[in-house]
Amino acid sequence: MNKNLSKKLFVISGSSGVGKGTVLKGFLERNPHFMLSISCTTRHPRAGEVDGVNYFFLTKEDFKNCIENNKFLEWAEFAGNYYGTKKKYINQCLDEGKDIILEIETKGALQVKKQMPDAVLIFIAPPSLEALEARLRGRHTEDEETIQKRLNEVKAELKLAEQYDYRVVNDNLDEAISELERIITGEQTKC
Ligand code: ADP
Ligand code: 5GP
Repeated sequence: MNKNLSKKLFVISGSSGVGKGTVLKGFLERNPHFMLSISCTTRHPRAGEVDGVNYFFLTKEDFKNCIENNKFLEWAEFAGNYYGTKKKYINQCLDEGKDIILEIETKGALQVKKQMPDAVLIFIAPPSLEALEARLRGRHTEDEETIQKRLNEVKAELKLAEQYDYRVVNDNLDEAISELERIITGEQTKC
């Protein structure tokens, strides 16, 4: 039996700073059989980020070569950098029967849904735009110019999120993790 048929792909998105990474970390601690897809990006690594663990960090030229050679399941430009998911990587994970989660932005998520209609799209929303900005700034990982670029993406992301299957508000962290668990478990037990 092709194990691909029994595996659903879960795609999580949310504006920069909403807490996707934090919610997913909590989810993965409680559900260690799930794995997070490793994307390619042209952005510079943040302090502590490791190539091949957090991302595959590529030059713009290498990224463009991958686009030209049709290597990506999806890719998008976000706040001045390119991000993409390699087809080969996802197919390999699904063939190995892994429960895989993609944490990608909205344009890429909708490309995935087009190609894999069974993929489940979950949007992590902030309790308010003020809270979102405060979290993004409070993380202290981006300079002001980058923060502005990321905030400029929010409106378009919220619009595309209307096409998602689920929405989880990350207000209380524990509740958001539990809600994500409920959604994923529910989808996995659906016929
Ligand atoms: P993202 O991955 O969406 O860019 P992060 O997971 O890096 O966001 O979280 C951004 C900041 O918000 C971090 O400092 C994190 O600790 C904080 N954060 C995450 N979830 C919550 C929450 N529910 N309440 C308050 N702060 C949060
Ligand atoms: P960051 O630079 O904060 O790690 O990520 C910025 C945005 O890029 C986030 O919304 C994140 O979900 C998204 N992202 C990460 N990997 C991918 C990917 O492979 N494809 C797409 N389309 N977006 C991605």
